[in-house]
Amino acid sequence: MAGIYLHIPFCASFCTYCGFYSEVCTGREPHARYIEALARETSLRRDFFKGEPIKTIYFGGGTPSMLMGDDLHRIHDALAAAFDLSRVEEFTVEVNPEDVVSRGGLLPALRSIGANRISMGVQSFCDRHLRWMNRRHDAATAVEAFRKLRTAGFGNISIDLIFGFAGLTDIEWRDTLQRAISLAPEHISAYQMSIDAESALAEMVALGRYADPGDEICARQYELQQQMLEAAGYGQYEVSNFCRPGYHSRHNSAYWTREPYLGLGAAAHSFNGSDRRSWNSSSVEQYCKALEDGRLPLGGGEHLTEKDIYNERIMLGLRTTRGVPKGLIAAPGILQDTGDTYRIPRDKLFICDSIIEDFLR
Ligand code: SF4
Repeated sequence: MAGIYLHIPFCASFCTYCGFYSEVCTGREPHARYIEALARETSLRRDFFKGEPIKTIYFGGGTPSMLMGDDLHRIHDALAAAFDLSRVEEFTVEVNPEDVVSRGGLLPALRSIGANRISMGVQSFCDRHLRWMNRRHDAATAVEAFRKLRTAGFGNISIDLIFGFAGLTDIEWRDTLQRAISLAPEHISAYQMSIDAESALAEMVALGRYADPGDEICARQYELQQQMLEAAGYGQYEVSNFCRPGYHSRHNSAYWTREPYLGLGAAAHSFNGSDRRSWNSSSVEQYCKALEDGRLPLGGGEHLTEKDIYNERIMLGLRTTRGVPKGLIAAPGILQDTGDTYRIPRDKLFICDSIIEDFLR
């Protein structure tokens, strides 16, 4: 199987913790140029897959929900012209709550291009924390957006949450998890706040205005989320991902099992499913210019050695609750034997990175 990732590198403003590549953009004109470049790249990359059926599409960012209905249709038409989409099972679009609530044509446009899964960046149900994160929505808007998505017919919705930042108490984290559970989404991703070098948060750290809360608090909040989500019927299938039975993210799961994927758009990465990764220029200007000149906007690439491939399989596999095939690791050590795989026990997933290090070559 194969997947297509499409990157929309625009945001209406920057979130405090975010280091993703995106540009602040509120007008339509830069979008229009970018959408045309995306359509060109899609066409130029039509032979990327070697017969693998495309099973998943993922529009991520940045903020794909900033796009107009016309833009979404233009992108979808370009994809449908270049690839056989008849076997796509999961088509995810990332959205921000304020767009869902305020942009009337968005949800009908998403439905009409075939999106069947929504990933919404909620992050918190505490308004004070949302303001500190520089998010543009409040908790009430997130709830309203969720209801609108349901009313529009989306039966597969994922919510993103963040824990492990200074100022978040266990009681507040419990409350955010409870409010997420009460909406009954099919999927919940809960990420620990990290300090990305490119983020505003990193500047705050450098100025002595922020310090992370430390491992003990983060580990406790992680355990709390495991307990509450499991008790509410959300099975954990990866370090940061929980879902109702059958609703794991097929697109992300394919990354972890090293299926091929094509990344379209500025800064997007592609993988041939075995030994080659490549990536596009991360500058929107350079990306658009290359395609206007009729060139692919390649930013770089790398050949993966056997050692790289082994390490990737260990790193990706051990972050999932399925684990890695037994043949890959000689001695289980701290790992749990599931019959045909070895995996990190659930109560050790919080420290998975340090465990994984010991298995790398
Ligand atoms: S978290 Fe999302 S919305 Fe916020 S700046 Fe990053 S990409 Fe944009």
